[in-house]
Amino acid sequence: MKVLVINCGSSSLKYQLFDMADESVLAKGLVERIGLPGSILIHRPGEAKVEIEAEIENHDKAISMVLAALTDANHGVVKSLDEINAVGHRVVHGGEAFSGSVEITPAVMEALKANVELAPLHNPPNIMGIEACTKLMPGTPQCGVFDTAFHQTMPAEAYIYALPYEYYEKYKIRRYGFHGTSHRFVSERALSMLNNPQAKVITCHLGNGASLAAINAGKSVDTSMGMTPLEGLVMGTRSGDIDPALIEFIMNKENLNINQMNNVLNKQSGVLGISGVSSDFRDIEGAADQGNKRAQLALDRFAYVVKKYIGSYAAAMDGVDAIVFTAGLGENSAFMRSKICGGLSFLGIEIDEEKNAKRGEEIEITKPGCKTKVFVIPTNEELVIARDTQGITKK
Ligand code: AMP
Repeated sequence: MKVLVINCGSSSLKYQLFDMADESVLAKGLVERIGLPGSILIHRPGEAKVEIEAEIENHDKAISMVLAALTDANHGVVKSLDEINAVGHRVVHGGEAFSGSVEITPAVMEALKANVELAPLHNPPNIMGIEACTKLMPGTPQCGVFDTAFHQTMPAEAYIYALPYEYYEKYKIRRYGFHGTSHRFVSERALSMLNNPQAKVITCHLGNGASLAAINAGKSVDTSMGMTPLEGLVMGTRSGDIDPALIEFIMNKENLNINQMNNVLNKQSGVLGISGVSSDFRDIEGAADQGNKRAQLALDRFAYVVKKYIGSYAAAMDGVDAIVFTAGLGENSAFMRSKICGGLSFLGIEIDEEKNAKRGEEIEITKPGCKTKVFVIPTNEELVIARDTQGITKK
């Protein structure tokens, strides 16, 4: 069985074609600048790289170009689209309607459209991607895999905001959480590495967007993002938790409207805002090494907030057996892992710096005998989407 995984953003689209016989990736690629000047498809069949520049005015065109590349006589990897048995789509917000992955039906499309107001930036491109594939590959089953679904097991005390309760009833205002496919994948791996399905695990997805999850016996019981991905940790460009009263204060002082304020919180804050250097931790670590004090402060604040969340999730679960680091920063920055774990000796954590220095592999980085183990586990959200799609459509 071959499964195509599609992840549509507002102006970009990523894809991977899996052969589920051995879960290998036959081809993958990226469409950038959809609807903008300079749009391009970068297609990678195996080690090769093919770049196709064209006017890609919308997601329909982007997907038709991807399908043409996959079936192309020279750089394609399948003879015809009939060889692709199913398509799995990443969908950002499933609201309360979806606690697991589903096959796309007209009723599911209705529910997805009803969720647009929960994620006005993210869900519309996801829906466009599904509609384009349905049109271009009629008869091929399509599945939706939701970033929020894994966190639907959170208890009410973890997801309710202390706002008038009728806002939850009327508008579904509550905490949902994101990065669910990643938290699910790495926590399942951790349970298997611990050989204990009942273990308490804290997963740290630290990338440009960043979130933590508290996972008890395989179920998400809390996570740091909220109704939107803005809540929680300090991120690349997002503020994470702030005093909500600051919004009016800053809008008045800087004479901003609400769109400009949203832009500040989502695009100009986080480690970029504190450091003034970059949203990329490699640049910030480099600047801090050169003595840049704001870059150092950004790293200090980031690590401090992650550490506080780890402590609060250990309290929430009355213990923790393992902490997992994943995503761009979590997988690659030995420095940041060490910095975060340096202050967690009260949990029985001592990092083995030799193991911590290794890259690109699933590894325990704590010294033998530590009460709480720390793992680095590379995430693979696309594989989760492909597996779920295979599981649903094979039934
Ligand atoms: P992601 O969103 O998971 O793709 O993660 C992207 C982020 O990971 C980048 O913005 C970088 O800040 C961070 N990152 C990737 N590689 C490294 C590295 N070697 N050292 C520090 N940070 C890294």
